Amino acid sequence: MALSEQDLLAKVPTGLFIAGKWVSGSGSLIAVEDPATGKTLLEIANASAEDGLAALTAADETQASWAKVAPRERGELLRRTFELIRERSEEFATLISLEMGKPIAEARGEVTYGNEFLRWFSEEAVRISGRFGTSPEGTGRMLVAQRPVGPAFAITPWNFPLAMTTRKIGPAIAAGCTMVVKPAELTPLTTLLLVKTMEEAGLPAGVINVITTSTSAATSAPIIADNRLRKITFTGSTQVGRKLLEQSAQRILRTSMELGGNAPFVVFEDADIDSAVNGAMLAKMRNIGQACTAANRFIVHDSVADDFASKLGDRMGALKLGRGVDADTTCGPVINEKARENMQRLVDATVAEGGDVVVGGESGSGDGYFFKPTVLANVKPGSTILKEEIFGPIAPIVRFKTEEEAIRLANDTEYGLVSYAFTEDLKRGMRLIESLDTGMTGLNTGLVSNAAAPFGGVKASGLGREGGAEGIHEYLETKYVMIPDPSL
Ligand code: NAD
Repeated sequence: MALSEQDLLAKVPTGLFIAGKWVSGSGSLIAVEDPATGKTLLEIANASAEDGLAALTAADETQASWAKVAPRERGELLRRTFELIRERSEEFATLISLEMGKPIAEARGEVTYGNEFLRWFSEEAVRISGRFGTSPEGTGRMLVAQRPVGPAFAITPWNFPLAMTTRKIGPAIAAGCTMVVKPAELTPLTTLLLVKTMEEAGLPAGVINVITTSTSAATSAPIIADNRLRKITFTGSTQVGRKLLEQSAQRILRTSMELGGNAPFVVFEDADIDSAVNGAMLAKMRNIGQACTAANRFIVHDSVADDFASKLGDRMGALKLGRGVDADTTCGPVINEKARENMQRLVDATVAEGGDVVVGGESGSGDGYFFKPTVLANVKPGSTILKEEIFGPIAPIVRFKTEEEAIRLANDTEYGLVSYAFTEDLKRGMRLIESLDTGMTGLNTGLVSNAAAPFGGVKASGLGREGGAEGIHEYLETKYVMIPDPSL
């Protein structure tokens, strides 16, 4: 039988996890809120800078022994955790929905997706390999090996509380790195339950350490400045990523940066419009529009723009706002009041700049932070909303007339995470793949995320890739050895 919300919350540890022990932080508590009601779900420990450094000490002291653990054993720890999460998937989905607000069906999707990183990297752990060859002069042998980069610091965002953490913990463990994890203060509960589950699966003390804190900058900076740290992996906004890169530059740290997006979603006159609308619903409304991959600018051919706007408007208008855990909810709240105010500001600015509201455009009712799913048509190129990451349920539509214009509009952003394009013309599709300046492209689909694929962006959307065969290399360093020819 499914657990009640109270029983589920009672299972979530509320302390910091340092050197294999749950400890109470030295600061005051953090109240974690349900964004659909504004009420506190649970109070948890609040790490100080000293607690952060204690977590780094644990990671550092465990690094050497962890790197020596057999790859198969590291992989099996991930696999056991994967199996436990699969058995308890409903508990994880409910917790994600409670703290983040997404509809339960989407939270289930995140559990499947997020858990897959553990399975994927359990399989990658045993595939770390090197090279051995003869030097071009023939006088030596060249050995190239991969070894763990060392203690890593992971900072994650609030929008995918499970997947953003497993995407970092999975490859770190597989590669033989220890880690300090700092989840977002808005949605830390899922990470706490994840690590408790890893403990049950046999996680050795000190390999993964978790600090929750309301003073992210003050608690993180001393960790980044400490000589024992070798790697920082961050998912979050470009603004915070820039600050972390500046701090990392002082230490020449290895960095992985999964930052913000401003995805174009281009619909050509030869596209299957119904399929484009389905793709748009996925690309825009997954996570209530609060995804780095969210379609941010709908760039639609003049001849189909009205049809697309009206069909998308019908679908968006039919979504039911509510608490994510309620079965009939198809759209949850945005994360907090600040986010809701930002939605209204963007709608008002777009209308003042000449755009039209097709549907929505205002807050929803209830105590939570609800904003109605919104479609804005005839948005003028250069409008404010096209330059910012919306991070909410608003779909602005811009018209174009030629393929060149569509590509220019699509690339007209400092970001380069993902792009979406809908066309039935294969040659055009090939041209788009080569000219859209993004790390990922969805061709006739609104969903690209997959644990087996290299996820990441170009330009201000970041550095490095997570997932796929590439993901583990973010946690490995290359070591080259020269050995003289034994016969000389
Ligand atoms: P955010 O940048 O505000 O916060 C991310 C994390 O950084 C949180 O844990 C936060 O506590 C911490 N943080 C904030 N300031 C810090 C500082 N000075 N030092 C150390 N840590 C600090 O982002 P958010 O609001 O949590 O998430 C939304 C952003 O994340 C969006 O821009 C979104 O596009 C991006 N995102 C990117 C990806 C990706 O894979 N590219 C995935 C999900 C989210």
